[in-house]
Amino acid sequence: MSKGKILVTGGAGYIGSHTVVELVEAGFEPIIIDNFSNSKESALEGIKAILHKSIICHTIDCTDAAALRKVFEQEQDIQGVIHFAAYKAVGESVEEPLKYYHNNVGSLVTLLQVMAEFKVFNLVFSSSCTVYGIPEKLPVTEQTPVQKANSPYGNTKKICEEILTDLASSGNSNIKSIALRYFNPIGAHPSAKIGELPLGVPNNLVPFITQTAAGIREQITVFGNDYDTPDGTCIRDYVHVVDLAKAHVVAVERLLQNKAESIEFYNVGTGTGNTVLEAIHAFEHATGQKLNYKIGPRRAGDVPKIYADVTKATEVLGFKTTSTLEEAMQSAWDWQLSLQDNTAKV
Ligand code: NAD
Repeated sequence: MSKGKILVTGGAGYIGSHTVVELVEAGFEPIIIDNFSNSKESALEGIKAILHKSIICHTIDCTDAAALRKVFEQEQDIQGVIHFAAYKAVGESVEEPLKYYHNNVGSLVTLLQVMAEFKVFNLVFSSSCTVYGIPEKLPVTEQTPVQKANSPYGNTKKICEEILTDLASSGNSNIKSIALRYFNPIGAHPSAKIGELPLGVPNNLVPFITQTAAGIREQITVFGNDYDTPDGTCIRDYVHVVDLAKAHVVAVERLLQNKAESIEFYNVGTGTGNTVLEAIHAFEHATGQKLNYKIGPRRAGDVPKIYADVTKATEVLGFKTTSTLEEAMQSAWDWQLSLQDNTAKV
């Protein structure tokens, strides 16, 4: 018997698709909503190949209240929602801020209104360590002050967290939310049937690495090696996407067991920081591929170093990462190779 229906907005995306798989493995019945603005229907095929069954997907936009209502009407007994749907390209958000405020903030507000109408009171929200800005002390805990965002994208995450906090303190809402602040998700499902699918030039390090190793891009540029870190390159907390996906399952379970406060925040990372060069070398070591990279100037807006204190997620949610950086890199490479195989077949 299913543990309950969980609506997963953005469920065809990178983190969403992995979470859908983990929800099923944990006994839940996920229902996907996606408008495929940053994903492809092939993700649904990948999910199906892993699970040996199809997952229902409603192709709608989360800012469309009428369409959302229809989904809630059609899908009776939704127990909770995991809200991934958002745009996430930092650079684009600087150029087109309204697009980001409309989609990221608009979809959350619309979703919360429709959830309340249908008496669905449990929400897991995709937040980001970007809310900590350039932290004064490392590692960052959930008490580390949230800072002024350095991009419209980052600001949408900050605003969405504030909306959830305001709703919680209004006293008028039964909605309980868990905001997971992701550090740097990388890697792919070990089956290599789902993974990160950057449309166009990747914004994140690992797809850039795998595309360079695959010969799709000539060279990868490391932005700056004069930071105050052991090798001068930026430090990030790279968390395997499957570990991250599992954090959503334990968060949903906490909500459904009625253990959560009206709003809770958790860091989701490994607790370890690695430099960009360490990440590159981990990729080379894991896969045996030599990477053509060069050192370039610093990139505006990059946080020099950030990694998580994950004590709260470990103690309260029972969250624990199990994958190493090398395993994550290997899985990302396997995914890249499978993408090329599929392209070759077309
Ligand atoms: P993604 O782009 O792969 O997935 C997002 C999915 O949402 C896509 O499938 C897209 O088509 C869909 N979508 C976007 N707007 C929509 C809308 N209005 N209605 C319906 N569907 C919509 O991104 P991801 O990496 O899986 O990120 C998921 C969430 O996690 C996002 O909220 C993102 O901001 C957040 N996050 C991501 C990272 C990261 O590095 N990947 C880090 C921190 C936080």
